[in-house]
Amino acid sequence: MIDAGRRTALEVIAAEVRDCTRCRLHETRRKAVPGEGDPDTEVVFVGEGPGQNEDREGRPFIGRAGDLLVKLLGSLGWRRSDVFITNVVKCRPPDNRDPMPDEIAACSPYLTRQLEILDPAVVVTLGRFSMARFLPGAKISQVHGTIRPADPETGARNALVLAMYHPAAALRTAAIERESFDDIAGLPGALIASRKRRDGGAGPDVSEAAPAHATVPAAPATPSDPTHVVAPDATAHTTPPSSAMLPSSTGESADTDQLTLF
Ligand code: URA
Ligand code: SF4
Repeated sequence: MIDAGRRTALEVIAAEVRDCTRCRLHETRRKAVPGEGDPDTEVVFVGEGPGQNEDREGRPFIGRAGDLLVKLLGSLGWRRSDVFITNVVKCRPPDNRDPMPDEIAACSPYLTRQLEILDPAVVVTLGRFSMARFLPGAKISQVHGTIRPADPETGARNALVLAMYHPAAALRTAAIERESFDDIAGLPGALIASRKRRDGGAGPDVSEAAPAHATVPAAPATPSDPTHVVAPDATAHTTPPSSAMLPSSTGESADTDQLTLF
């Protein structure tokens, strides 16, 4: 689907979400939060549900958790507008309680349709509820930072899933914040691995074949801006990059020096 078609199709879903009354969360929301980003992106981030700021503005991840997400993306040299960001439930659970199973089930078709339209190469799950949708039965403490194929039933028909902690958990615990910077450092490699899978396996370096829209470094960027946060040990990996866990991986870390996102 070309960009204009995707944009329109996503806007149709967003309009439905804004008027949705399929679950009780509509009774207490101010604004539903359908999600936003580049309709032509290869990377979709899926969080849990809107918080207070998101509920007021109708936009995802604009509070403190969103600020951290922007810093995590910034450690790759990426911006939030390079990706698509949405949530498992589109309306705020009151008092930021966990979304309930029936609410997640009621909202699930919207996320499925968004993923069908976007057809991402990589889905990044933020937190337990998002992880549970893509990796049922997994434990976040075990799978964070790892990459697995998505079940096509989720709507992501040919994607790899990178599981991460929720940024709100990283805000509470310094060790989780550091692990989150380590985990997101695996994202460019996951994107390259997914492009290869989508191309039908081994082939030429697909990162060079991609059109040069935005060239982003694979390793955490050296901050030129002092407000730019990079985890102190983000470059000190002692374990292999998470793409090494892929069954089809041949260890393409050399490919990731320069990565074209689009
Ligand atoms: N936390 C989430 O999971 N999603 C948001 O959009 C904001 C905070
Ligand atoms: Fe509809 Fe989802 Fe909002 Fe529930 S959370 S009212 S299903 S958009």
